[in-house]
Amino acid sequence: MPTPERCGAPDTTCRQTEEDFRTIHHELGHDFYSRAYAGQPPILRDSANDGFHEAIGDTIALSVTPEYLVKAGLITTAPEASGDIGLLLQSALERLAFLPFGLVVDAWRWQVFSGSVTPASYNTAWWQLREQYQGVRPARARGEELFDPGAVPANTPYARYFLSSVLQFQFHRALGKTAGCTQPLHRCSIYGNAAAGQRLRAALEMGASRPWPDALDALTGQRQMDATAMADYYAPLKAWLDEQNRGRPIGWQP
Ligand SMILES: [Zn+2]
Repeated sequence: MPTPERCGAPDTTCRQTEEDFRTIHHELGHDFYSRAYAGQPPILRDSANDGFHEAIGDTIALSVTPEYLVKAGLITTAPEASGDIGLLLQSALERLAFLPFGLVVDAWRWQVFSGSVTPASYNTAWWQLREQYQGVRPARARGEELFDPGAVPANTPYARYFLSSVLQFQFHRALGKTAGCTQPLHRCSIYGNAAAGQRLRAALEMGASRPWPDALDALTGQRQMDATAMADYYAPLKAWLDEQNRGRPIGWQP
């Protein structure tokens, strides 16, 4: 049987995945942000900081809860709450595990740009950071004849995705509160809630016309980035993992 290909490829079976669904939310977040600040003077038509631009669509995707999928007619019944750990684990492998990687990419770039790492040790420096922050080692020696950081696409700064990972949970927590959600954070959906929508829109419409803490304040009531929202979101998973890992050594020796 032929492997199903991505939609759009001619003469193939089209298979849309959950990842595609999330990616659509991410990219549309960019579009809706751009539309919201279109009334600003041209030079201020941008996000409050670049983490904001990456965070908007992902924030909306955090409202794609099982109950939302039922409302949207994509599934018939929401799974039991006992299934939440699987969902949270999948989400954490995507979002939490990204944090050290996002940091490694730009930490390496900054070392290169500052000249503290020279071409003679580009690959060594990459793997040192991978071990330091991610606890990852290559399966076999990776010498300087190789260029592993080149596997990171294009020349995109990754600090924007790192910041977005923190911001999107902060946005989600604040908007969920505005929407009156009293459930655990991972079960909150702002779908259809006008108050949350207005709060989001007010922040987006500011574009780059104010310092970013002002936009953050408008959206969350906080002026500083705050990763406790991420910890709140994954709290049930943390409790489960603590139980699974009880008595086991945790971490790695750099
Ligand atoms: Zn993006």
